Amino acid sequence: MKRLVLVAACALIDADGRVLLAQRPEGKSLAGLWEFPGGKVEAGETAEAALIRELDEELGLTVKEACLAPLTFASHDYDDFYLLMPLFVCRRWEGDAVGRENQALKWVRPAKLRDYKMPPADEPLISHLTDLLL
Ligand code: C5P
Repeated sequence: MKRLVLVAACALIDADGRVLLAQRPEGKSLAGLWEFPGGKVEAGETAEAALIRELDEELGLTVKEACLAPLTFASHDYDDFYLLMPLFVCRRWEGDAVGRENQALKWVRPAKLRDYKMPPADEPLISHLTDLLL
């Protein structure tokens, strides 16, 4: 039986309509691929609380729960686990994004999102995001 992994992800959208992507660093699974920032939801945690925690830990951003709007849901059957991943949208936060875990960051125009190689779970999310932004 495979484990079920719940990851919350966020499309941070800046005032110019660009979306933040983070590159998974060396030493992590899927290293080098670009993803929507976020991370694992811990036992008993809401997806929103997990995102607020992860965006602070990984990017140094302070996000309020009221700024997180659910957009859609991704799922993927990986070799060793099933991934479920809600994607939220956020347009308001405090602080400037910094890759605190040595991850490269890029603010990407929606029309350019497909130029970045993403994990298989993330890729289907792009069309939902471009529907919203283009
Ligand atoms: O980021 P973390 O390694 O904790 O995520 C757990 C797993 O979820 C990763 O190994 C990856 O396979 C998957 N994942 C993903 N897309 C993301 C974040 C994580 O497919 N944006």
